[in-house]
Amino acid sequence: MPGSLFSAKLYKTEQLSANTLQLSFELVQDEGASFNFIAGQFVQLQFEMDGKLHKRSYSIANAPEDYKATGLLQVALSLVSGGVASGLFQKAPAGTELSISGPFGALTLPDTFPGQLLLVGTGTGIAPYRSMIPQLKTLSDKGTAITVVKGFRYREESIYSEDFAQLPNLKYRTCLSRESTVNTANHEYTGHVQDQFDALNLNPENDVVYLCGNPGMIDDCVTLLRDRGLSPRQIKREKYVYSGH
Ligand SMILES: Cc1cc2nc3c(=O)[nH]c(=O)nc-3n(C[C@H](O)[C@H](O)[C@H](O)COP(=O)(O)OP(=O)(O)OC[C@H]3O[C@@H](n4cnc5c(N)ncnc54)[C@H](O)[C@@H]3O)c2cc1C
Repeated sequence: MPGSLFSAKLYKTEQLSANTLQLSFELVQDEGASFNFIAGQFVQLQFEMDGKLHKRSYSIANAPEDYKATGLLQVALSLVSGGVASGLFQKAPAGTELSISGPFGALTLPDTFPGQLLLVGTGTGIAPYRSMIPQLKTLSDKGTAITVVKGFRYREESIYSEDFAQLPNLKYRTCLSRESTVNTANHEYTGHVQDQFDALNLNPENDVVYLCGNPGMIDDCVTLLRDRGLSPRQIKREKYVYSGH
């Protein structure tokens, strides 16, 4: 994987939900290269453990504007039982040194959309859309209809709701796959994100769908969207495949 490599330090760890951490990193900017990214991209964290180099990819969760203002790069990490990165960052103190390479990925936004824009993410898969918030505001102000469809198992796993609340002109749907009751006034739905497609009046001519998160969800969504007539160029995706080095 190409991309510049930067020395970094963990600045702080925050608990976003019982199973999700937000990690903020300070990057050491070399004279030759400075870290810049486009909202929607991801980085690779590289760290040594037991004499072995591990590499794990994470979507950047804050906006480029926020990174420039604070000097901190944020990612959201969904804790996996027995996971190497999960175990490390659950305990890592501020100041822990590692390397960060990137940015990578093409889950980025153009300046205009011909139709409606649907942003679909499961779990930490909504992090890249949080990074896009300033751009989403501009697009929405220009008239693009935007719907964010978030998927979690349980209500308490939901993250970043307060950040998206800054964008009241967007529509939201939170799908809770393991809750038996939902609050419809709060735009909650039972089931999975892909169950929402029928209600969204997708136009196969010009709507665009972004998908981010677990690979199974993305494959299911792509099949359903293709069945509804969307072409490959109308579907952008970032799969959170496990690296397991
Ligand atoms: C482009 C890209 C972007 C990504 N962005 C994010 C992100 O923003 N946030 C995020 O949390 N993750 C993201 N991931 C996944 C991330 O890179 C790691 O795979 C994940 O954090 C697990 O790493 P770990 O070292 O804790 O677990 P590992 O040591 O890699 O895995 C331990 C065990 O858990 C299993 N496992 C790993 N992940 C999961 C899972 N999610 N669910 C169930 N079982 C699992 C493995 O198969 C293995 O058996 C992304 C992946 C890619 C490719």
